[in-house]
Amino acid sequence: MKWEDLRRSKNVQDRRGQSSGRPSGMNRSGGGGLAPLLMMLLSGRGGKFGIVIIILLFLFGGGLSGLFDSQSTVPTDNSISYQESRQVDQETYSPNSGISNDATEAEVGFLSAVLGSTEDFWGEMLPQYDMEYQPAQLIIYSDYQQTGGCGLGSAAAGPFYCPPDSSIYIDLSFYRDLSSKYQAPGDFAMAYVLAHEVGHHIQNEIGVMDSYQQAVSQTRSEAARNQLNVRLELQADYLAGVWAHYAEEQGLLELGDLEEAMQAAHAVGDDTLQEQAYGRVVPDSFTHGTSQQRQAWFMRGYEYGDLEHGDTFNTLLPGESY
Ligand SMILES: [Zn+2]
Repeated sequence: MKWEDLRRSKNVQDRRGQSSGRPSGMNRSGGGGLAPLLMMLLSGRGGKFGIVIIILLFLFGGGLSGLFDSQSTVPTDNSISYQESRQVDQETYSPNSGISNDATEAEVGFLSAVLGSTEDFWGEMLPQYDMEYQPAQLIIYSDYQQTGGCGLGSAAAGPFYCPPDSSIYIDLSFYRDLSSKYQAPGDFAMAYVLAHEVGHHIQNEIGVMDSYQQAVSQTRSEAARNQLNVRLELQADYLAGVWAHYAEEQGLLELGDLEEAMQAAHAVGDDTLQEQAYGRVVPDSFTHGTSQQRQAWFMRGYEYGDLEHGDTFNTLLPGESY
């Protein structure tokens, strides 16, 4: 992607090295904030406010708007993944090799440029639908980060969006995981990841997130709730594709960029992740869609470049039948 000449977004907060609230023996996002609140409720000091927070944690705490279901990902072993990273990088993608300061500065610059491009695009697009665009914040962190309403974010959970504080959380280690663990190298793979999280912010801005929460609260079966989550995620993929359409129009795409995004969308599909982690797949437990669905909705957004064709909630999904 030709990003060097793009303006850098001002909505980036670099909090690397300021790890906050490291939990003891807990690495799942959301869990960190829950225990003290439960204590507060049990001791009768929480009141209604506490209950609301508990519900919010229930809704968002598990990395609801993450890139993938963090529970079905391959276990992390840094020593192994860095080794793999070097091997992969030799053949494919050099900017991510090693973990030098220069490399991470380039990654921050890249993310700031891509975020700036999404801001320019959505800032033009939403007014066409009589809506205003308030940009999201991008929090770049390392290890653990306390969010504003989604519990404790952890690098192990991958990139995620937190609706209550309208912020996207990314640990740069994921940049390297993409090319090593997920075998989706290339800068546009990471652009897709960020554009997907911005897609969740668009959903928050235009009210889809509210409708989704309402629907979830009225749904009893877990399989049906998972299905709603799949539709939310596929729409974020669609919106990432819509931005890619704009990037193409702006002449920012290079040969192979689309393939990089498609490879990343494939890598974070539920079936692919579950197959890798457990050697089998459980479709009822899917929360983000299959690799094929994620690719299809990204491409659909890329082809149409509008909001009209992205209603994943009332559309028969590719691969589904009556
Ligand atoms: Zn997502």
